[in-house]
Amino acid sequence: MTEESAFDRFIRTVDSAAAIAGISDDAVLQRIKTPERIHEVSVPITRDDGKQVIFSAYRVQHSSARGPYKGGIRYHPNVNLDEVKALAAWMSIKTAVVNIPLGGGKGGITVDPKTLSKTELEALTRSYTERIWRVIGPQVDIPAPDVNTNSQMMDWIADEYGRQSRTISPAVVTGKSIAFGGSAGRDIATAQGGFEVLHAAMEATGERIKDSTVAIQGFGNAGANAALLLHAAGARVVAASDSTAAVSLPDGLPVADLVAFKSRGGSFRELDAYDRTSVEDPLFSEADILVPAALEGQITAANADRVKARWVLELANGPTTPEADAMLERRRVRVLPDILANAGGVVVSYYEWLQNLHAETWLREEVEARLAVTMRRAYERVSEFATFKRTSFRLAAYAIAIDRIAAALRSNSLEGRVALGR
Ligand code: NAD
Repeated sequence: MTEESAFDRFIRTVDSAAAIAGISDDAVLQRIKTPERIHEVSVPITRDDGKQVIFSAYRVQHSSARGPYKGGIRYHPNVNLDEVKALAAWMSIKTAVVNIPLGGGKGGITVDPKTLSKTELEALTRSYTERIWRVIGPQVDIPAPDVNTNSQMMDWIADEYGRQSRTISPAVVTGKSIAFGGSAGRDIATAQGGFEVLHAAMEATGERIKDSTVAIQGFGNAGANAALLLHAAGARVVAASDSTAAVSLPDGLPVADLVAFKSRGGSFRELDAYDRTSVEDPLFSEADILVPAALEGQITAANADRVKARWVLELANGPTTPEADAMLERRRVRVLPDILANAGGVVVSYYEWLQNLHAETWLREEVEARLAVTMRRAYERVSEFATFKRTSFRLAAYAIAIDRIAAALRSNSLEGRVALGR
């Protein structure tokens, strides 16, 4: 039996959610299950030693039914077309769940960025932008950061897009540095959005974040900021991992010190003062809340029984397979699904885009307050629908999203768009 791919899992989840949402229009469902455009490009750079190398890269534009394509760019050795297709599709679902007027897309370069110097990373980012600039743009497709990409790389993309298009277009990409048109609050947005969802969900069951214990897999933008927010709210982070090792401390890890250590370029395997274990270990730690914040496909049928947490806050995209999801549901583990829990990043990206288009600068408090309202509203809608249909939060969120995308496809005159090949 061949292993099911991430994109196959997306299709299976759409089918289950369509049944719940009562959508039986096959033509519309087929549109949702098929990416509108796939760009596969080769990205040449000259390395510092003068050698020429070429990397494979992608930009998948999944759905523009509800607005311009929107989604991050990932640099990772395992990036492949199937993964980028799944990530792009999840973006279309996510923007629909939080009801912002954007579609879904995603990009990636198959590269281990740790093997490149800063000059080489800049060359790679500019070369990739040069390859895709004709198919992105402020009203077309707006990239953002994802795994191993950051505000510096987004600044290079905005700059290179400007050179190529002979325009000044900060709105072509979000997640930029503040100096280059970025938004206050974008750095912590994914974690903050997740925090709002967790807070609302725990409140509804009479539980609270304060005094809870937390285990986090992945300590980058999403994971480290979640650690800071949860710690500040009185939770104890008892286990955390990066790609090199896991560290744990039942009394609570010194979160601020770990974040400072990581921001200096440190790896958990160098932390001699702690017991270091396998990077998977936080998934199975004794903790109330598990936060997967690394990569997809981490909680599977093979290990879901070992998860001890009662809450799973999915800040990573696609960390739980459908089989594992069903196993967790049977054990009444409450899974707050990625397409809701990590949508804070794209919501503040949307705010950044709006600020750039209108030449405005919003205060951090304004961004945070708007994000909190948007996330709470999305949570309430998903929670109500899940209760009404007696289904999981994931299927409820998918059902709401595909209903919104289907409505946009129908009102955009499906036949007309198909005739135009759009
Ligand atoms: P990042 O590159 O900033 O951090 C990734 C972290 O995961 C790093 O600490 C890395 O060491 C760690 N990691 C990698 N492989 C690991 C493994 N096997 N075990 C344990 N740790 C591992 O990336 P990020 O932006 O924080 O993204 C993390 C996840 O969150 C991804 O799934 C991404 O798609 C998702 N996400 C990010 C955003 C965002 O705004 N950055 C928004 C939505 C979703």
